[in-house]
Amino acid sequence: MAVCAHCQKPLTISIEPDSEDEDGNDDVPMGEEPETLPDDVHLSCGDHFHWECLLEAYEYSKCPACNRSIVAASSSSSSTEERIIVDLNNEGGLQQGIDIAPILREESYLRAYPEERKCRAFLEFCSEGDHRAIAELVKSCGEEVTADDEDGEVMTEAVGGPSKSADEVLRYQDPIGDMSSGLHAAVANGHREVAWLLLLLASEYPEMSFPALVYQEAGTLGVMREYQTGKVDIRSLKDAHGRTAEDVARGAGVIWQGWVGTGRLAMPNGAPRSNGRSGVATTLRG
Ligand SMILES: [Zn+2]
Ligand SMILES: [Zn+2]
Repeated sequence: MAVCAHCQKPLTISIEPDSEDEDGNDDVPMGEEPETLPDDVHLSCGDHFHWECLLEAYEYSKCPACNRSIVAASSSSSSTEERIIVDLNNEGGLQQGIDIAPILREESYLRAYPEERKCRAFLEFCSEGDHRAIAELVKSCGEEVTADDEDGEVMTEAVGGPSKSADEVLRYQDPIGDMSSGLHAAVANGHREVAWLLLLLASEYPEMSFPALVYQEAGTLGVMREYQTGKVDIRSLKDAHGRTAEDVARGAGVIWQGWVGTGRLAMPNGAPRSNGRSGVATTLRG
């Protein structure tokens, strides 16, 4: 029976019985076996790891135990991304021959920069086209962290430094994925409702140019455009290849017809990014 090459323990993970109400209320029967689930990452070199153990020892290209390369030769010449093909057996069942490189990259990055968790979630929602989740996320940014967490415990310490503001989340560019913005992600995946929401919340695209429905939906979701002067316009963001969201739209074809060349997805030609009259903000206060 294989064991984890890192900690030498069986390739399972024990599930804590639900002990959420620990108010002296022992309704877990004594002597009950802890429940276990498979937790086995089977690398191409033959070694097995727990997911957490692999993440801990993780280096991108080699097995932490035997030092052999675990990077698969990419089948498509266009992709430069490393692939790490494994057989993964966990609570989701056995998945054979899957590429875990993207998840490993994501998780190890979040270990180093936990304060970017919301930003990462934001990009994911943009790719998936979940504009409602984006609205909820944006609204949650302004909240004080004195609220109860899911377990009803008051969170007392901020994990991993200051949390990001809504403006920062909206303008996040993916440092482990080509510096794509949320707008790039939405456009690449054909999500117009997300694109509209991002334009509303993070650009100076003229308010008169939005369909009424966009305002209606934003109102339902409880979000609205804030003062944009002096802030980065999401349309001006470029990915690592120097592409604006409009460039991505151009490549995506017919779905973005009517959006390309209209200044909706890129800064209008010659328009200043900010008009430099940031002093206006103070005179408008109150
Ligand atoms: Zn282990
Ligand atoms: Zn190995």
